Amino acid sequence: MNSVRNIVVLTGAGISAESGIATFRGPGGLWEGHRVEDVCTPEALAHDPALVHRFYDLRRAALATVEPNAAHHALARLDREWRGELLIVTQNVDDLHERAGTRRLLHMHGALQSALCAACGERRHWIDALPVGSRCDACGAAALRPDIVFFGEMPYRMERIETALAQADLFVSIGTSGAVYPAAGFVQLADACGADTLELNLERSTGSDSFAETRLGRAGELVPAWVEAVLGAA
Ligand code: NAD
Repeated sequence: MNSVRNIVVLTGAGISAESGIATFRGPGGLWEGHRVEDVCTPEALAHDPALVHRFYDLRRAALATVEPNAAHHALARLDREWRGELLIVTQNVDDLHERAGTRRLLHMHGALQSALCAACGERRHWIDALPVGSRCDACGAAALRPDIVFFGEMPYRMERIETALAQADLFVSIGTSGAVYPAAGFVQLADACGADTLELNLERSTGSDSFAETRLGRAGELVPAWVEAVLGAA
């Protein structure tokens, strides 16, 4: 642990599960009762924008009813106290990392509380419902959509993330099933560039075999213990 200076952490829906936010692959492979294809693809947005907007309106509204849990708070502590390089990359679209106080954070799949103009690419902080046809302040087009990276779209800030992975001494994946690419491939990239790799998850995931070590359990217990150990060894 003494030689660790650069850490990259990847989080997925599992880190927010103990806060009461459903994971992606809930019972029957549905996300909050919907097939992923119906709410999380560009085709779905084109064919039934009202359904897609309403789905994310409900997810956005639900943020007011949840709080960061011990795992989010532990990563915020790591961010405050870790003197080396740190990048926390989340696949989550909730705002629980920010609300816990994490600053060195990237949302690679977008954010519920952001609206994106499909015409000019401008973004706006958005906390209420987002009706279909809402106008962009910058270009005037009635083209605001949820700022969510759908399947088939390029995740945000990939260059920055890949640079951090290439320089990492330690890559830690928390609460992710390893089923969604390119995030599922981060462990191979980090490993190939010489990083140690650790997975913290409730159960073994699709990607477990690629990690040097997997610890099984709830994020609310595993993450605070890991952060305590990393800071203690620094
Ligand atoms: P996923 O649902 O595919 O996998 C979640 C993983 O977390 C599973 O392996 C599960 O075993 C594990 N898990 C469940 N409860 C846990 C706990 N208490 N502690 C530790 N691990 C636990 O999620 P994913 O891999 O992040 O899927 C990616 C997509 O899901 C992303 O694109 C993301 O945007 C979207 N999503 C986000 C949210 C959110 O923002 N909170 C919620 C649902 C889906």
